[in-house]
Amino acid sequence: METSKPHVALLPLPGMGHMIPYLGLGKLFATHHNFKVTIFLVSIDHSSQTESKTIISEMNNDLCNIVQLPPVDITSLVDPNATIGLRLPITMREIVPAFRSSIAALKPCPIVLVTDIFGTDAFSVAEEYNMLKYVFFPSHAWLLALTIYTPILDEEVKGEYVNQKEPLKIPGCASVRVEDLFDPLLDRTNQQYDEYVRAGIGIRMSDGVLVNSWEELQPKTFAALRDDKLLACVLERPVYPVGPIVRRSGNSSKNDLLFEWLNKQPNQSVVYVSFGSGATLSHGQMIELAWGLEMSKQRFVWVVRAPTEESGDKAYLSGRSGDKNHDQFGYLPKGFMSRIQNVGFVISDWVSQVDILSHPSIGAFISHCGWNSTLESILKGVPIIAFPLFAEQKMNATMLTEEFGMAVRLQVLPSKKMVGREEIQKKVRKIIVDKEGHGIRDRVNELKYSAEKTSCKGGSSYNALSELAKGFEARMQLQN
Ligand code: UDP
Repeated sequence: METSKPHVALLPLPGMGHMIPYLGLGKLFATHHNFKVTIFLVSIDHSSQTESKTIISEMNNDLCNIVQLPPVDITSLVDPNATIGLRLPITMREIVPAFRSSIAALKPCPIVLVTDIFGTDAFSVAEEYNMLKYVFFPSHAWLLALTIYTPILDEEVKGEYVNQKEPLKIPGCASVRVEDLFDPLLDRTNQQYDEYVRAGIGIRMSDGVLVNSWEELQPKTFAALRDDKLLACVLERPVYPVGPIVRRSGNSSKNDLLFEWLNKQPNQSVVYVSFGSGATLSHGQMIELAWGLEMSKQRFVWVVRAPTEESGDKAYLSGRSGDKNHDQFGYLPKGFMSRIQNVGFVISDWVSQVDILSHPSIGAFISHCGWNSTLESILKGVPIIAFPLFAEQKMNATMLTEEFGMAVRLQVLPSKKMVGREEIQKKVRKIIVDKEGHGIRDRVNELKYSAEKTSCKGGSSYNALSELAKGFEARMQLQN
C-alpha cells in the first residue's frame, strides 16, 4: 500500500554540485525502494539559475516531489562579497523556518530527513516531527574524515594550519598537505572557519552519514571511519557508502552543433575542458589556457565562462546568469577563434557534461576536479588533467593523481600563481599523444568497472542503500 512506504525529505545545499547528487539519491529511493521522496530546493539572493531549472525539469515528477523553498535574503547578515564558505552555512540556517512550514504542510509527514553539510540546523525540525536525521555527504570519504576531524584539530593544533610544518594528520587516513587546504581552513580568525568547525560537529548529530563514494574506491578511509580506535570514536555514527550517484545522461539536444562536430572526430582524440557549474578563471589564466590548448595541436571542446579578477568560485551561486554581459569570447587571445577553427569548439552555454564525456571522441578531461565531475569521468572511463581551483579540489587532485592514478596534475607557476601555457600543452600531449597516457587510461577503466559493479544488485553501494532503506521501513512500521 502506498501509505505504508516511507516518505523521505531531502534538503541539499544550493549549487549544482549538491543538487545533482541529491536528485540522484531521490531517484534511487523512489525507483529501487518505492519510497515517496520530497526534495526541498534552496535558492539564494533571488538568483534564478537557468541550469538548475534544466536539471529539475529532467526529473520525472512522478518519482520525486520538488518543493522550491522561498529565496533567502541574507544581504543584511553578510557582506555581498562574502565567500561561499560563509554564504552557504548562513543561508542554510536562515532557511530553517521556511523548511519547518513546508514540513508542517506535508501529508504524510516524512519520517526521515536527509540533509547536507551545513544543513544540520534543520535537524531541529526533524526532532519536532519525530523524523530520523541523516546527512548525505555529496563528496568523498577523505573529505568527510577531515570535516568531522576539524573540531579535534581545532583543539589540538596551535596557530594557523597553513603554517604547520607537517601535513595535518587524520587517524587512519592520508594526511592533508597544508598546500591542499581550502578557503575555510586557511584563516582561523575568519567566521567561515567557525562555520566549518560547526559543520563537523553538526554531522555528528545525525543518525548516520551517507557518502557519495564507494567502499572499494576508498577502503582505508571507510575502515578508519568505522574503527573505534580511529575515527568511529569521533563520528559515533554508521557510515553508508552509497555512490557513485551521478547524472546518467542529460538533455543534449540543446548542443546539437557540438555533437555534430564531435561525431566527426576520431576516437579518444578530443580534450574536454570545463570547470564545473561555478568556477571562473582570471583573464591571465584564460589566455594561458587558450594558448596551451592551441600549442598542443590537439582537438578540444572548451566550455568557457567570462573571466573574473581572480580564478575561483565567483560564479558558484549565480551560475551562467552571471555571464550575461560577456561579449562573445572577446577575452580570448586575438585571432584565437579563427586559428582554432576545425580543431577546437568553444561554447559558453550550459552543456550536458555526462553526454559529452560519454562520446567516444573524448580522450581527456581538463577538470577543476569537482567531485561530480570526477565521478562522471570515472564512469565514462576518461582520464583527468587536474586543474583544481577552489573548495576541496586540491585535495581531490592529490587523491586522483597519487592514490587513484587516474589523473595528471597541472603545476602552477609560483612566479605567476597560474598554470602556464607550456605546462598545459605538455600535459595534454602526455594524455592524448604519448604512451604515458595509456597506463592512466587503463587505471580509469579499472575504476569504471569497480564503480559500475558497486551500484549493481549485490554490489557494496547497492547493499548499503538497501540496508538503510530497510531501517527506514522498520521505523515506518514502528510508527504505524
Ligand atoms: N555540469 C554540466 N554542464 C556544465 C557544467 C557542469 O552538466 O556546463 C554538471 C557536471 O556534469 C557536474 C556538475 O554540473 O554534474 C558540477 O559538479 P562538480 O561537483 O563537478 O563541480 P561544482 O560545480 O560543484 O564546482
